[in-house]
Amino acid sequence: MTGSLGPANVQQMSRPDLGPKPHLGYTDSLIDRAAERRLDTAWLAACANDARTQTYVMGGEMIVLKKGTALHNPAFTPDEARALAPAAEQVFLGLLDGAARFGTGISPASAEALKERADLLVIDLRSIAVQGLVTAEHLPPLAEAKAMLHWHARHRHCANCGAATSPVDAGWKRACPNCKVEHFPRTDPVVIMLTVHGDRALLGRSGRFAATMWSCLAGFVEPGESMEDAVRRETLEEAGIRCGRVKYLYSQPWPFPMSLMNGCMAEALNDDIKMDQNELVDCRWFSKSECASMLMQKHPDGLTCPPPVAIAHHIIRTWVETDGALL
Ligand SMILES: [Zn+2]
Repeated sequence: MTGSLGPANVQQMSRPDLGPKPHLGYTDSLIDRAAERRLDTAWLAACANDARTQTYVMGGEMIVLKKGTALHNPAFTPDEARALAPAAEQVFLGLLDGAARFGTGISPASAEALKERADLLVIDLRSIAVQGLVTAEHLPPLAEAKAMLHWHARHRHCANCGAATSPVDAGWKRACPNCKVEHFPRTDPVVIMLTVHGDRALLGRSGRFAATMWSCLAGFVEPGESMEDAVRRETLEEAGIRCGRVKYLYSQPWPFPMSLMNGCMAEALNDDIKMDQNELVDCRWFSKSECASMLMQKHPDGLTCPPPVAIAHHIIRTWVETDGALL
């Protein structure tokens, strides 16, 4: 080594210490989905009277928690859940340590009424995750229950003939008694990407964001489209940036209402932004050091990026912590 400070050395010396990697919300479920149990009606009925069984109770966007001191408990025994409100729907989520775990849907009005109870906290899943109101192990099955119960609430009639359908297979299917078509729960794929041009990355702002927040661009994958092509189409539509190579990084269930976020990085082929003003209110290139300061909430102008519960935080961090090209 000559001791000269070339650009690579400067980069290395100024590389920030972002601390331990946070957990990505709603991932790494400990639940064994035990799909073979979904058809075992006698066993499922016995679970309803087993004190080891636990269920999550929710109505609309609201989830019911038993108030604790530092953390709250979202898991109720079958008897406790029955005492809260009548169940509109029930889904078998799987097994944890051999005990069954369910999601119980109650009416939004019932959930609203439970807000009056001093021993309960009735609150939405985003707030639970962002504020860390329950232990992290509950987040993946809460996401599973929320997505499934939302699907039931919005698919009560057959899309083929219009007749009322009934839940079967412990909530994992709805059957039409009239035309016999079976309906299965859906997950909508979304691509969320960090598009990189040299040593800068593209972030945008939606009108829905807090005033200081910048994030990765994102959009739904359309029918007949690969994830890679969706990344290229969305980046071109929203920012006028053409993309070459696309690399998939990791994914995150996103039950708002029932998406799967597929995190990607993309190589930009041009850097002259032409923003779609219907989709974004702002869009520009950011350096690694600027992104690092946003991740650490130390940006001089107070700019921020999404919190660790969101996959965008992890994608931006992966890029900041990687020397050289990730593609
Ligand atoms: Zn039908």
